[in-house]
Order: sequence, then C-alpha cells, then structure tokens
Amino acid sequence: MNICFDNIRIVSPLQSIDIRGYLWIEDGIIRHAGAEAPETTRATTHIQADDLTAAPGFFDMHVHLREPGQSYKETIESGTAAAANGGFTGVVCMPNTEPAVDSIQVVEFIHKRAAGLLTDVHVCATITKGRRGSDLAAIETLLNAGAVMFSDDGGCVESAEMMRRAFDYVSTFDALLTQHCEEHSMTKNFAMHEGTVSAELGLKGYPSVAEDIIVARDILLAEYCGNRRYHAAHLSSAGTIRLLRDAKVRGQRVTGEVAPHHFVLTHDAVRGYNTNAKMNPPLRTQADVDAMIQALADNVIDVIATDHAPHALHEKNVEFDAAPNGIVGLETAVGLTLTHLYHTKVLSIQSLVEKMSVNPRHILGLPQPMIENGSSANITILNLDKEWTVNTDRFLTKSKNSPFGATELKGVPVYAINNGKMIACTL
Ligand SMILES: [Zn+2]
Repeated sequence: MNICFDNIRIVSPLQSIDIRGYLWIEDGIIRHAGAEAPETTRATTHIQADDLTAAPGFFDMHVHLREPGQSYKETIESGTAAAANGGFTGVVCMPNTEPAVDSIQVVEFIHKRAAGLLTDVHVCATITKGRRGSDLAAIETLLNAGAVMFSDDGGCVESAEMMRRAFDYVSTFDALLTQHCEEHSMTKNFAMHEGTVSAELGLKGYPSVAEDIIVARDILLAEYCGNRRYHAAHLSSAGTIRLLRDAKVRGQRVTGEVAPHHFVLTHDAVRGYNTNAKMNPPLRTQADVDAMIQALADNVIDVIATDHAPHALHEKNVEFDAAPNGIVGLETAVGLTLTHLYHTKVLSIQSLVEKMSVNPRHILGLPQPMIENGSSANITILNLDKEWTVNTDRFLTKSKNSPFGATELKGVPVYAINNGKMIACTL
C-alpha cells in the first residue's frame, strides 16, 4: 500500500481538524496528512478524492459474530469482512455464542481467530456464567484476558440482586457493564412492539415499558453502588431516553447506544409479516423514533451501533412468530446514518464521526486513531453524497436478513484502512 488521496476532506473531531488536503499512506503508516501536498511524492498511486472524506476508523460496539458455535450464520472472518465493507475498522463482538464468552478460553479463541484481520475485534464477555443469571462470571479474570465490557446480551440480567452484585464486584477495577434492557416477565413469546399494529396483526407484543423498567432499575443500582459505569444497549423506547437524560444530568456515568433501524423504521415495517423487520428490541412507534433522533441530536445517546445479528435464510423464512430476532446491520449503518441523520441536518459530520468512531472507543477506554503524520492508518473513507441502492447480494456477511434491500440511500463507505490493510468497499 502506497497511496495518496489528493484533495480529500479530512475530518477528525478529537484533533479539531476539518480540512481539505492530502493524505498519503505507505505500508499502513500515515506519511503525510495536511492541507499542502507532501514534499516527497513517493506515492505510487494517486486517487483524485474531490468527493471523498476521511475520518478516524469507524467502530461498532455491538456486533454478533456468531463464533464460536453458529458459524453457519456468520464467522469472525465473514463478519469482519462485512464490517470493513461497511466502513468499520473495529467492532466489539457480543457474548451470546455457543459456548458463551464466559471463560478465558473463549476470549482467547476469538482473539486468535481475529488476529491479522483489517477490522479489530474486541470482546464483550458475560456478566453471569453461561448467561444463566445465577452466578457471576469471573469478570476480573476476563477483563485481564482482554474483555472490554460485560453483558448477558441476547437476554437481560433478570435479577436485580444479581445486577447489584455485578456492580459491586466491578467497583474495584471499574469495568463497564452493559445491558440488554428487557423485563422478561413482560415479554414472553413476543413477536413485535405492543401497540396498534400488533393488535391489528394479532401478534404478541413487547411493551416499551419493559425496556424502561430495566433502564430505570439499572440506573438506580449503578448509582446505589457508587456511581458505576453503565451502558444501555440498543435503546428503542422514548421512555428510556427520559431516564438516561435525567441520569446524565445528575452526573451518573451512564451512556447509551441506538441501532440505525431504531431511528429509521417503525412497527409499520412489520405489516406483511416481514420477518426481516423482527428484532429485539422491536421496532416501535414514530414517537419513539423521534425521541431517538432528538437524543442523538442533543447527545443523550452517545453511540450508533448496529446490533448486527445475522441469521440464515432458512431460519427467517418461516412464519413471523417462529422467526428468530435480529437483522444484519454492518453494511447499511453508514448509509442509513448519513441519509437519515447527516443529510437531514440532525447531525453534523463531526458529531456523526463522534458517534461512530470517537465515543465508542472512549467509552471502552480504547486508543483513538489519529490522522497525523507518523500514525498507523486507521481510517474510514466516505463519499457523503453518493446515491446508491442497497443490494444484499453485495454484502460480505454470510446472512442477508436485512429489511433495507432495495432502499435508496445517500452516502456510502468507500475504503476502510487498518492494520496495514486497505479494502475498497463493494456496496
Ligand atoms: Zn441485545
């Protein structure tokens, strides 16, 4: 790799940079980033980049890579290929694998599988052994093995007492707990959001208050246990936004994330019983979508994460009630976010880069990529204005379960660069 992007826009909020200039990368190292052309011109390839924008590599802190145990849905290799294709140079993989990520062996297995790939893979380990909710996992040992956060994702830690013990346990080393917020006693066998559409379609509903209850409980517990760090995963309900906002105002160390489908789609997408509109938490009402967008604009929501959840075609090709929850998201997240938040002027490009690159790494305590001379190149390159149509055949993920096939979007990832590797995105 010895490539210079000529006349590229460089946006790096942490460095307070928004310039147009030259970006020369040789052997994975940034040789020159600046408004003036580099003095030496050793670059063997020049790309005229008038319509391109370079940003610190995008990071998705909520991805299901399905390995170990469900490699027919996705593997670490195919999932990270999809991540890079979607513009992500780093991800956190969630622990609801088979076996669950509750031992050093599984953490090491994932790290070994991910070694040498373009996209960095960080590990979220479980809060309880086997995600069963009855005994705490060896959180400190898992942290020392490299786990960056802890969750029983796929499900919620049901017992308030168990969650309190987890907050108490992590207090000495200040680990980050993140929750899939769902009061399971209210959501048994749900198929979609509980509301007018579920009534009309005759499907069992998941009321949004079941999410709010857990967010409220965990905020109280985090405060009670000495202002512990807490990250609410894949928020979907307007009620949780109110709770998160209040907790932040009171100075609690709480953060939140939202997936693109929760600020783009409503429960109306379920009409026609489209199983690619079935996920957990479910798509909710326009008022909930509006609350997500407002919370993104005023920074109550810190992070955009995909909750990329691949499932095989045969698993989704069943009646709605029987279909598994989840959609793939890595290859549509940037396009959806640019279309629905940047081009609608909800987020500036700087705030968008914060929510997709800076903030997730900050919350996880990971090093931040810098776009400066001598740094290792960890960069996402976007075309902010290119209009394109989502074609799931072009996805590199093993699974195609997306509700966004044939959707027209504006703005696309073009290159991902990290670990001495560069790919041209194929979307
Ligand atoms: Zn979840």
